[in-house]
Amino acid sequence: MTANEFEIRRQTIANGLAERKLDALLVSYSPNLRYLSGFTGSNGNLLILPGRAILFTDPRYQIQVHQETTCEVKIAKGPLVTDVLAAIARLRVKRIGYEPARMTCDSFEALKAKLPMKASLTPVPGWVEELRMVKSADEVERIRRSVETNSQAFEQVCAKVRIGMKEQDLAAELEYRMRRLGAEKPSFETLVGGGSRSALPHAQPTAAPLQSGQVVVVDMGAIQDGYCSDMTRMLFLGQPGNKVKRTYRAVLEAQLAAVDAVRPGASTVAVDRAARDVLKGYGLDEAFIHSTGHGLGLEIHEPPRIGKREKRRLEAGMAITIEPGVYLEDLFGIRIEDTVIVTPNGCEVLTRTSKELRLIS
Ligand code: ZN
Ligand code: ZN
Repeated sequence: MTANEFEIRRQTIANGLAERKLDALLVSYSPNLRYLSGFTGSNGNLLILPGRAILFTDPRYQIQVHQETTCEVKIAKGPLVTDVLAAIARLRVKRIGYEPARMTCDSFEALKAKLPMKASLTPVPGWVEELRMVKSADEVERIRRSVETNSQAFEQVCAKVRIGMKEQDLAAELEYRMRRLGAEKPSFETLVGGGSRSALPHAQPTAAPLQSGQVVVVDMGAIQDGYCSDMTRMLFLGQPGNKVKRTYRAVLEAQLAAVDAVRPGASTVAVDRAARDVLKGYGLDEAFIHSTGHGLGLEIHEPPRIGKREKRRLEAGMAITIEPGVYLEDLFGIRIEDTVIVTPNGCEVLTRTSKELRLIS
């Protein structure tokens, strides 16, 4: 990411202040702060005004912050809010937008309590998140690398999966391999669930050994160069019976139908419906209990949501997952998930890992 790219993003915010009747935007949520400044520290506030951006952080980041950002930097000796308030007073900023879904009540109260006379706070929900939805070419490349690392880790570990291996050990191997392949860390806690635990959409790995005749769900993602990937694949230990095979076919068909529906201008609801309609044909729609997908980027879950509600038009450059699933209580669950980029003519499935049910002998 060039310094220029961050500057353009801040300029976009600065240019949008007037129409929102604001003089400044205060950004406190770290992924948004990183998106606008490049700063990766855990404690920061960014005040964006027309023609100026001030980043407040603490002395732990004194060296790092200058390596990462071209913003004007203020190292606060105490709570950041004290220095933010001082800047607001000094620059006579009146109408300050803040991120209501992101700021803690404590920070908000501290800010409000000492705001200069005539200054006011206005909630501005989701503005930076809105910008983050459409990825730049550089961001798409980072996501692509993250997806490749994730898929490679999966391949390397699949070759070692055996009956008797613990779910926890499988998850640990996957996370170790992705780090060895260049990931900073997993983008979420790796999910591994065998047998009836595969019917839990968020199966936390346990000490249970994988057994013959089990369906195993593996849902994993990497963060590489700050960007997330997300993939779900299914393993089967031994030879699957007809019920597993039929359910797998249904979910795969639903996944392909949803991927097929991804293009600029398509509504998120229509993409979700494409998956749901296929499952309905198999009498499995009631067992599909979550959305078809979600946006991802600096965070593993970002807008847009690909579900029944929250209708939105897809745009080229959006990064989303497509992950229908079917969950049969006490039996098994099947989910297949890819990371997908919306392109000018349709979409590109970044995840190249085979979508065949993987048989482990
Ligand atoms: Zn996932
Ligand atoms: Zn996902």
